[in-house]
Amino acid sequence: LLAADGTVAPTIFAEMSAAAARTGAINLGQGFPDEDGPAEVLEAARRAIADGANQYPPGRGVPDLLAAISEHQHRFYGLDVDPGTEVIVTAGATEALTATLLALIDGPDDEVVVFEPYYDSYAAAVALAGARLRTVPLRAPDFQPDLEQLAAAVTDRTRIILVNDPHNPTGAVFGREVLVEVVRLAQQHDAVIVTDEVYEHLSFHSPHTPIATLPDAAERTLTISSAGKTFSTTGWKIGWIHGPAALITAVLTVKQYLTYVNGSPFQPAIAVGLRLDDSYFSNAATELARKHQILGQGLRAAGFTVHPPRGGYFTVADATALGGADAAAFCRALPERAGVVAIPLSAFVSPEHREDYAGLVRFAACKRIDVLEEAAARLTRYS
Ligand code: PMP
Ligand code: GLN
Repeated sequence: LLAADGTVAPTIFAEMSAAAARTGAINLGQGFPDEDGPAEVLEAARRAIADGANQYPPGRGVPDLLAAISEHQHRFYGLDVDPGTEVIVTAGATEALTATLLALIDGPDDEVVVFEPYYDSYAAAVALAGARLRTVPLRAPDFQPDLEQLAAAVTDRTRIILVNDPHNPTGAVFGREVLVEVVRLAQQHDAVIVTDEVYEHLSFHSPHTPIATLPDAAERTLTISSAGKTFSTTGWKIGWIHGPAALITAVLTVKQYLTYVNGSPFQPAIAVGLRLDDSYFSNAATELARKHQILGQGLRAAGFTVHPPRGGYFTVADATALGGADAAAFCRALPERAGVVAIPLSAFVSPEHREDYAGLVRFAACKRIDVLEEAAARLTRYS
């Protein structure tokens, strides 16, 4: 995790946001919205601070938020989650993932199977936990896994199958047959399914299907989500994880020594968010889908080949026709030359597989429409 010179290497997101700040470029790199989320949620946090919610909350999380998560999972997916034993609040999805890996990995022979490209903290957390990463490739244009490759990757050494759906960075939403196969393989090899569903409310063409709703899945599935994406509060770092009580107890055991607790006034505010009307959630998906469309049009006009996403914050585009066959070099030059920041897909891939994704670039669409239009205009001028 250290850079070659022994200093701490910044994450790709920090590096690209710094490039945007330095050059004044439009930041379509790091995935964070440039507009605030629902006023009710922001107001509830202010109220919670004024009302004195400023000390350590309970270790599992504020009871009102635990109840709201349980209600949310029942309302949207028909899942029954006991708020007392089967859910905990975490410092974002990031802590939920890391605490889970630290809790469940027994030793260096344990393997974690992930789809590649993958969100950057996965490989780091697997390394921290001392396990081995096994990857299953997702390839353009639809970024669905080959089920035979998936089956070949899962063995009796597999401790965890780690899924992210909707998927960062590719924008894939996995077909039901993929999710069913994940459950079958987990059962066959007695693995735990860890599913990162932070973009659960940002699926554009079909309702989100949590893996935990599939037959025989709930008993071996830990479901992770985060308020950051759903309520445009990425800086609040309120996430959660739910699943069988024994697994949640194991994760809590680690979490209590990682951060202990987090986000006292933000927790009741997110409870307010999770109880908003259905229209809030469906509008969030519709608005983001529209932004992807505008971004996609702009990228096509600039000469990219666009792989339209089915969910999440990001559109992936092929830059080869613009001289971006080496997308890493292309993205390094882009802030100065075009005034836009984007991230090469190779940043989400193990070093030995970078060539397979060489021409692909990830653009964040979770920005104001005028910002996306300006970015598209700059890219068109540049091309
Ligand atoms: N998983 C995925 C797939 C993400 O995209 C992100 C954030 N961009 C996270 C986890 C981290 O979420 P949080 O900020 O809640 O820790
Ligand atoms: N998840 C965000 C992304 O993919 C960034 C989060 C971070 O900076 N760690 O862009």
